[in-house]
Amino acid sequence: MRVILLDIEGTTTDVAFVHDVLFPVSYDGLEAFVAAHPDDPDVLAAKTKVGDADLVATLREWILDDRKETVLKQLQGRIWEESYRDGSLRSHVYEDVLPAMLRWVATGSHVYIYSSGSIGAQLLLFQHTIAGDLTSLLSGYFDTVTGPKREPASYAAIARAIGVDPSDVWFLSDVEAELDAAAMAGMGTVHILRPGHPNPSTRHPTAPDFEAIG
Ligand SMILES: [Mg+2]
Repeated sequence: MRVILLDIEGTTTDVAFVHDVLFPVSYDGLEAFVAAHPDDPDVLAAKTKVGDADLVATLREWILDDRKETVLKQLQGRIWEESYRDGSLRSHVYEDVLPAMLRWVATGSHVYIYSSGSIGAQLLLFQHTIAGDLTSLLSGYFDTVTGPKREPASYAAIARAIGVDPSDVWFLSDVEAELDAAAMAGMGTVHILRPGHPNPSTRHPTAPDFEAIG
């Protein structure tokens, strides 16, 4: 069995979508969400974490700083969920992503996701893309609960969880340090260099998109 393991940001999806769309949607939506759900467990957890400080102002500072606080990630996920469900938000995927996934699945490969975004956020993103709901083409999802993306042990754990040898897995990412870790764990790698990529020099095989990957 061949496994294709995909990073999201910069690989399936334009980084600008995360920074120019997702972050502003959560920034703008925080105040209304907190006001509408004062007793929600995620809101109460954020209040406990923030303490005496102004809740909305503090969370907005954290969004601007791209802080990896769990209470913030939970609330952001809830706000994105509302926007995805009411149709006001659609996630970006590059136009070669759907054809490649169809091709890989049709030829017996299994496609998995490994991203620093929570599995819940990954599911929402792939349910509501501009190319439609892609989740039927995906066999599973991994986030940093499995381990950090720059540590070989995380990739070994993913191969174990899928039930394959690391050498059966190809990891596609835009970040060389992640590819280094996957290669150290024994996976094949492809460095995806989307338009505007700042650093095209790399230790890994490269591709400009998924079209080139058979
Ligand atoms: Mg990436």
